Amino acid sequence: MLELKHIVKRYDYQKVLDDINMVFPECGIVSIIGPSGCGKSTLLNIIGGIDDDFQGDILFNNKSVKKHLASYRRKHVSFIFQQFHLNMWLSIKENVALPQFFHPQEKQKILLDLDDLKQAKMKDLSLGQRQRLAYLRSRYHLSDILLCDEPTGSLDPDHSDQVMQLLKEESRNRLVILVSHNQQLVEKYSDEIYEMKDGYIIHHQVIDNPMKHMNKPKTTSKIHFSHLRLSMSSFMSHKSRSFQLVFGLCVSLLCIVFTLTLSTNLEQELINYVYSLVPASSISFQTSNHESLTLDIIDQFNDYSTIIKAEMYLDDYEFLGISFKGERYQESNTLFIGDDTSPYDDLALEIGTYPTQNYEILVSLSTAKYLCQDSDLSELIGKKVYGWYQHGLNVKAIEYKVVGITNQSTTLDTIYTMKHAYIYLLSSVYDFDVSNVSASLGIIYVNKDSDRSNVIEQLENDYPSFQFKEVGASTAQSISDTMNQVRMILLIFSFLAILSSLFLIGEVMFLNIVQKKKDLAIMKCFGANTFDIVRIVLYESLEIVLLAQIFSTILYFNCISLLNNIVSGVLLNDSFTFKIDFRILVIVYILSYILIFISQIPPLLYILRLNTVNALKE
Ligand code: ADP
Ligand code: MG
Repeated sequence: MLELKHIVKRYDYQKVLDDINMVFPECGIVSIIGPSGCGKSTLLNIIGGIDDDFQGDILFNNKSVKKHLASYRRKHVSFIFQQFHLNMWLSIKENVALPQFFHPQEKQKILLDLDDLKQAKMKDLSLGQRQRLAYLRSRYHLSDILLCDEPTGSLDPDHSDQVMQLLKEESRNRLVILVSHNQQLVEKYSDEIYEMKDGYIIHHQVIDNPMKHMNKPKTTSKIHFSHLRLSMSSFMSHKSRSFQLVFGLCVSLLCIVFTLTLSTNLEQELINYVYSLVPASSISFQTSNHESLTLDIIDQFNDYSTIIKAEMYLDDYEFLGISFKGERYQESNTLFIGDDTSPYDDLALEIGTYPTQNYEILVSLSTAKYLCQDSDLSELIGKKVYGWYQHGLNVKAIEYKVVGITNQSTTLDTIYTMKHAYIYLLSSVYDFDVSNVSASLGIIYVNKDSDRSNVIEQLENDYPSFQFKEVGASTAQSISDTMNQVRMILLIFSFLAILSSLFLIGEVMFLNIVQKKKDLAIMKCFGANTFDIVRIVLYESLEIVLLAQIFSTILYFNCISLLNNIVSGVLLNDSFTFKIDFRILVIVYILSYILIFISQIPPLLYILRLNTVNALKE
């Protein structure tokens, strides 16, 4: 079944095994004896397929397995090591069932033997108990070949004999290759004995030729989510370090999502503020060659159903504000009015009526409250107010009458007048002819239900010689631009934070693997291939990221609501709240997965280069 052909092994150009040729039977105990350092363990490593650096060939069922040592090992070989090689961070059960994590194995009842150990921890086990676990684990993998390197080396004579009896039983249906110093036991139990010296076989003796008992085909199964379970065990084996990593990454993630949320919210708030100063529904227009606009031209736009009002903007006449006194302009007694041409068609009235005359005005609720101070709002209705205008050095007042109060608050104090009303009134005060009045700029107020850019498109089609512009759009754009710059800077800092914590994870995982390389090598001896190990390590990193994301999401939600509480307390303004942005969460979290994969490259490279034989010697 198993055959070694011309095996030569060198360490640093020095031959440790020299032209070893062996033919093994299908079952029975084949012992290898010899003085310390003669190459027994080296030979066993080669037979076991964990050392691939040798010359010569291994034949299994007459086929060379030298090119596929890993799969040969996974399918056909099991081990009992002198130092037991148990995984301290796995449970007793997981240690015994280790082969089943990587390969379907027969369902076995041997776990019953563990009843007395169920409560025990790995580190509390005695040598004898560890020995037993190592033995049980080797049985868990129903391999054709069982390799035992000094399995009784650390046992007293009684226990040694017990183990040998168990091995004898094992050898009825598989090949047991035994390396031992105990001449007496070897002679008592072996079916064949090889004697080695200085890397050569110097003697071969066949004592018995046992027949293999046929194994009945049995049902096999694999442990579910095996890699995930092993990775979690690894995670929990160094809890405090794992949670430090989780915490570090959590803080970085929180920083970045918070930064992005704040800057996005702030930008939106600033843009909203700009549009509260200039209505988001207004369009300014002028002719392409800066020709003057007349009222007739302006009125053409008033025919559109999408337009509430088109107004001429007399920029020669500056509106200074309103005051209750009409004798003389006093800046201190005048309330500055920001916008005097916007329409009132879609505004509801708090009290009063809509204007029917040019001199009748509405004021916004916030303006009315300011004007009334403590007295009743209705006292304002019917009151005269003076609108002060400046033309050159000439400051004059128009007499208005307040007829109604709208129901909305405005950022700047606002009055509303009928279409062209102020132009007619100005013409009588400043004595000019309305039919000759002209301006370079007009303003169009778009219906709330119509889209401003669609209206512009239509107007541009109908009036190709005019230029139309969204009012406030350029200010909003420049706010966006500035915020983008601020956000870029914040982003760079946040990404540095996230990058450093991910590299920390990469570094810690690297150290983790260096520390656990022996355990990983043990897994390789019991059925894991390199890809299995890679998956376990990757899963552990992903668990760290996932936990960090869960914690940072919870903290994020809490921080935002805490912040909103503070803001509403300080500003006494519930219109401004920080909104949770799920897009930011998703983008940042996907990005952190990409970065974690990058940070895993050094540990994964280390795994690929891991030398099983050397790792086991650690
Ligand atoms: P045994 O198991 O028979 O005691 P080993 O197979 O462990 O002997 O070792 C055989 C020889 O190979 C010894 O001389 C030992 O020093 C040498 N050897 C083993 N491992 C290494 C190694 N990694 N590097 C260099 N020499 C080694
Ligand atoms: Mg040895």
